[in-house]
Amino acid sequence: MASNPATVETTRFDFLVIGGGSGGLAGARRASELGAKTAVIESHKLGGTCVNVGCVPKKVMWNAATHAEYLHDHSDYGFDVENVHFSWKTLKAKRDAYISRLNHIYRNNLDKAKIPTIEGSARFTNDPEPTVEVNGRKYTAPHILIATGGQPSVIGETEIPGASLGITSDGFFELETLPKRTVVVGAGYIAVEMAGILSTLGSETSLIIRQTGVLRNFDSFISANCTKELQSSGIDLWKNSQVKSVRKTDTGLEVTIATKDPEKKNDEEKIGTIQEVDCLLWAIGRHPSTSGLNIGEMGVDTDEKGHIIVDEFQNTSRAGIYAVGDVCGKALLTPVAIAAGRKLAHRLFEGKKDSKLDYSTIPTVVFAHPPIGTVGLTEEEAVKSRGKENVKIYKTSFTPMYHALTSRKTQCIMKLVCVGKEEKVVGLHMQGLGCDEMLQGFSVAITMGATKADFDKTVAIHPTSSEELVTMR
Ligand SMILES: Cc1cc2nc3c(=O)[nH]c(=O)nc-3n(C[C@H](O)[C@H](O)[C@H](O)COP(=O)(O)OP(=O)(O)OC[C@H]3O[C@@H](n4cnc5c(N)ncnc54)[C@H](O)[C@@H]3O)c2cc1C
Repeated sequence: MASNPATVETTRFDFLVIGGGSGGLAGARRASELGAKTAVIESHKLGGTCVNVGCVPKKVMWNAATHAEYLHDHSDYGFDVENVHFSWKTLKAKRDAYISRLNHIYRNNLDKAKIPTIEGSARFTNDPEPTVEVNGRKYTAPHILIATGGQPSVIGETEIPGASLGITSDGFFELETLPKRTVVVGAGYIAVEMAGILSTLGSETSLIIRQTGVLRNFDSFISANCTKELQSSGIDLWKNSQVKSVRKTDTGLEVTIATKDPEKKNDEEKIGTIQEVDCLLWAIGRHPSTSGLNIGEMGVDTDEKGHIIVDEFQNTSRAGIYAVGDVCGKALLTPVAIAAGRKLAHRLFEGKKDSKLDYSTIPTVVFAHPPIGTVGLTEEEAVKSRGKENVKIYKTSFTPMYHALTSRKTQCIMKLVCVGKEEKVVGLHMQGLGCDEMLQGFSVAITMGATKADFDKTVAIHPTSSEELVTMR
């Protein structure tokens, strides 16, 4: 029998965290270390998006894909690689086992820290003091953190008939076999990464984008180069295109696509189809997980997309309720959620009044082929905020030495965005072999306020691609 919420006893904590993903777990553990009696509420698996259906399994798949890429180069380097066989099944089994180990580690870490995990979906009640109900039990705390993350957006059947025959990035991690024929829809980093992984591992892949390039909120140099690399790697790119309908046939899905020529003034559309598709993947964005929380009743304000509005200290519009991570809709990255959760814990439980995350210089990598690394302002942003006359751009483009012996080629492109007389480096954007691992150190320098002269003073490491960043003229 369901309990009467009014008569249910309420369990009290110092800090109650809703969501056991990157931000929630980091905030909870730091708060507990600082002496706060803390609990975490989680409706699914500990670790959240990053560990279960995001960064971690994605990186495993990207690592597998890089093996496939290098296989093409092995004979150029003198290796005989006849009869190589790839088993998606083996890869998936090992990946899933790794993720399960991580889930256990997260559980053990909470247990060791004596942080109870409350399993179930949290919902705010209408009690006068902010209170959360999970499976008929009530919990409260003077400080409640919402770290519920987000979910992949889906398209309704009324908008695109047959849309539900497709999967999202969550479904990608459930695929039991490598699809023979894939259609990925979207131009953001998840679309780029998943199309790249599937194509590199051997699935015939089409990517459907609404405009002319992918990664449109990145520096235009990166957007243009990544679009080119996708095409030269063999991905069938449909520009200015939109899926109109999806139909199941005996041989797989039939995806109908409308393409408009932006050069032509009339609204004429060219209709094309892709047949025998065994994987249609929607990667069209993410939306915040707030629907079941009842936050409207709590006086917690959200924006038009449902993201929780927070100030620079992660305070929501309701005193005692905070939010971090993807649910806030700003810089949707694991380290951002983690850092914001920890900073908040230091503010609330260590008395560090000024403890807050600086969102201005956040490095990010897109695990494309080759990978992209970017930090700071794009050229377009710098020009807008500082004026064209105060912005100086340094650019280079070259074929990495690795490819000197290979018939397969990729480019490495690099751009530094500098501002003012002192040429302070405010942005770095690059795509090429090794750029993923190159970025972190350079972001330290940029966060510290390095100038172009500081870059130039640094002795190069030869022969590497990264030396180009300190020798640009
Ligand atoms: C395919 C993909 C690849 C990605 N790759 C990268 C990458 O390479 N690098 C990177 O930095 N970031 C990456 N991200 C983004 C990263 O995963 C997120 O930014 C990060 O997980 C956000 O952390 P969070 O704590 O805000 O939310 P989440 O990690 O999503 O955690 C939220 C948790 O809250 C739980 N929850 C939701 N509602 C409730 C409720 N009502 N009650 C109880 N629990 C609830 C959920 O089950 C979930 O476990 C990727 C994301 C995706 C989808």
